[in-house]
Amino acid sequence: MADRYLHLTGTAPGRFLTRRLGLPQPAPLRRWTLETPRLEGPLLHLTAGASAVTGVAEVLSRSGLPVVGDTDRPAAIVLDATGVAKAAGLGDVHAALHPVVRSLAPGGRIVVLGTVPSPEDHHQAAAQQALEGFVRSLGKETGRGSTVQLVRIPVGGAAQAAESTLRFLLSPRSAYVSGQVIELTTATATPGPAADPAAPLTGRTALVTGAARGIGAAVASVLARDGARVIVLDVPGAREELERTADRLGATALPLDITAPDAADRIAAAVPDGLGVLVHNAGITRDRRLANMPADRWASVIEVNLDSVLRTTDELLKAGVIARGGRIVATASIAGIAGNTGQTNYAASKAGIIGLVRSLGPRAAADHGVTVNAVAPGFIETKMTAAVPLFIREAGRRMNSLSQGGLPVDVAEAVAWFAQPDSTAVNGQVLRVCGQSLLGA
Ligand code: NAD
Repeated sequence: MADRYLHLTGTAPGRFLTRRLGLPQPAPLRRWTLETPRLEGPLLHLTAGASAVTGVAEVLSRSGLPVVGDTDRPAAIVLDATGVAKAAGLGDVHAALHPVVRSLAPGGRIVVLGTVPSPEDHHQAAAQQALEGFVRSLGKETGRGSTVQLVRIPVGGAAQAAESTLRFLLSPRSAYVSGQVIELTTATATPGPAADPAAPLTGRTALVTGAARGIGAAVASVLARDGARVIVLDVPGAREELERTADRLGATALPLDITAPDAADRIAAAVPDGLGVLVHNAGITRDRRLANMPADRWASVIEVNLDSVLRTTDELLKAGVIARGGRIVATASIAGIAGNTGQTNYAASKAGIIGLVRSLGPRAAADHGVTVNAVAPGFIETKMTAAVPLFIREAGRRMNSLSQGGLPVDVAEAVAWFAQPDSTAVNGQVLRVCGQSLLGA
């Protein structure tokens, strides 16, 4: 559904009026297109104290942006604060960013590099945790469609682990992601044949559940753009829409209810050469306050959103259908983080996904060479949110740092980042794609 307010504030009289009334000023976000694949302008590389990781400059040099140490109008700023190990070192963070933050171009990016807070050194832990509060606050201040994130690289590790993450965060693909903390593991991608940067998923098969429409169809489309052979799965009742989506993307349609007892076997049969990327996107809502919620509404949401995800994941991993180097991406929601009235069942199912990802990620990597991550969308413009009553819908759209709803493609780009062959160090993470929603922040 069109965001008329965003259009209104895009006109001179609309901007004048809404400014006078003190209303939100959403900036139109610049998303990835073939013609605009990169941010426009230089990347300013700053350091707070000495770096505690190796190879940052080298990784930034491959970001596709000209890296500079000084500029009037950076499109992106990367502050290496990995060496900040004491509260006093936070002064270096202020000293580095204070003079330049105002010059960031509209739609710009700030990425702070930190390290994991230490369980042994409470001074280091305090200083590094301080960066989280700093980043989340700066995300609320920058405005004009700019975003701010914190990427934690293990102490003494190599910045190479952050390469795919920086490529994503420093590009138009992450337009609706802000105020996020991403904690990387030490793993780096096993060097294989260099992936085609325009089609990094070439040779991989990706299966997306709930892909007839909405976010799932966008995920399928972005994975196909990145070179994957795509299978789109949806309930048999959505067969026509599913086949239209498959035709449009050059994908294969698999009409199947993901809750069917033999769903994993049917998926395995559809991918005789194994699966490189499995995206659990299918989801339903059956909202009622708990006091009014019958058992069947409760059970169906837990079954589709959580139980079937657990079951098919377990069975496909056990059967070796998901190849080494494979990627599993599940779909949570900010409702699973913040909670929501009338959504005890939905929020429980989505919080369950977060539990699944955090627990299984490290073991799946050790036992199968597979990463497990989740996206947690905020307010995304789909049929699901078009059905929300007007006032709640408007609140959902505006209550975030970017003052607008996201698009299905924003979630899809995050899934594609998890799916990258060199995203090996990204594991057990839950990325909110919510424009830094105030809910659960
Ligand atoms: P949607 O309703 O437009 O699409 C969901 C798809 O899943 C539908 O095509 C549906 O047929 C399919 N599906 C449902 N049950 C299924 C089953 N048993 N087997 C196979 N397919 C099934 O929803 P959407 O807005 O595109 O949401 C996609 C995912 O994102 C869901 O998991 C949802 O909970 C999550 N999410 C959405 C938002 C949002 O703002 N739209 C926010 C947070 C999370």
